[in-house]
Amino acid sequence: MILRRQSKSIKIGNVIVGGNAPIVVQSMTNTDSRDIMSTIKQIKELEEVDCELVRVAVPNLEAAQAIADIKRGISIPLIADIHFDYRLALAAIKAGCDGLRLNPGNIRQPSKVKSIVQAAKERGVPIRIGVNAGSLPKPYNPKLPTTQQMVEAALEQIHFLESLAFNQIKVSLKAFDVPTTIEAYQQIATRIPYPLHIGVTEAGTPRTGIIRSAVGIGNLLQMGIGDTIRVSLTAHPREEVIAGYEILKSLNLRQHGPILVSCPSCGRAEVDIIHIVEEVEARLQGIRKPIKVAVMGCIVNGPGEARDADVGLAFGKDRAVLFKKAKRIKTIDRSFVDLLMDEVESFKLE
Ligand code: SF4
Repeated sequence: MILRRQSKSIKIGNVIVGGNAPIVVQSMTNTDSRDIMSTIKQIKELEEVDCELVRVAVPNLEAAQAIADIKRGISIPLIADIHFDYRLALAAIKAGCDGLRLNPGNIRQPSKVKSIVQAAKERGVPIRIGVNAGSLPKPYNPKLPTTQQMVEAALEQIHFLESLAFNQIKVSLKAFDVPTTIEAYQQIATRIPYPLHIGVTEAGTPRTGIIRSAVGIGNLLQMGIGDTIRVSLTAHPREEVIAGYEILKSLNLRQHGPILVSCPSCGRAEVDIIHIVEEVEARLQGIRKPIKVAVMGCIVNGPGEARDADVGLAFGKDRAVLFKKAKRIKTIDRSFVDLLMDEVESFKLE
């Protein structure tokens, strides 16, 4: 049982982050935000896999202004990602963004931050203070450990926002290095009441990035730290959302679609389990209910090893036992995946 850190909750559009709200899965588009149609198309693809918040890069005024049109074409709240130019934040707020992400490393002048905060307050737009180990503000002593520099950069900005009576704040402290990321979040978690957006930055391609993210995000979640997650991957952002839910599912923090249990196969298996499981995995993509499905390589150990699966297949030579809740229901000798899917579709969750 994970004891979650108590955080304040904030509202980004209609999505609550923090407090007792479910841990929110978010992603970021990689289209040119000025290209309204492509950006809407990608966000719709993210909505299809249940992405709950989306961030778009705002590198120039045209991108900030595009937010108004993008918003009309999508259903989930949109966060504008701002670096360097405070006027882009003002334009994004004016265009109707639901949240802002600011990097305290690159908008330094208090008067500029103040004008952003003023506008955000008027429109009820929360701000994420997104510290990144790779772009820390200059004045920090480089001899200090990176984690300390990250925490201090965040606290300085948080205190400034609080001095302006602004508390719709969310915080992130990301690094590429997983231990640095974990330590930075651990340090800040006890010092502020605000919800935390967690992730490992520039994590890489799916092969390595999902592992780095799962280790970083997973460790933090297990400690009760984290109110929203983003898995950063060099891939279509849909992969980030799918990986995010898998991390949450692996810690029993959220239910989301089926869970596939499959054995690694061993010398006892007499079928090509890898290909069968790949087919099952592909066909489960269309299923929404949180059913646990097992595909096991042998009848001797299969059903036992998948004891808590709802439905499953355990293969022998040229045949398989179809089981439900670890009980054998019939033996089949063809159309294995079709018959399994029939059981999946008709299965009533308790
Ligand atoms: S279920 Fe059977 S085939 Fe699969 S790993 Fe276990 S013993 Fe081996």
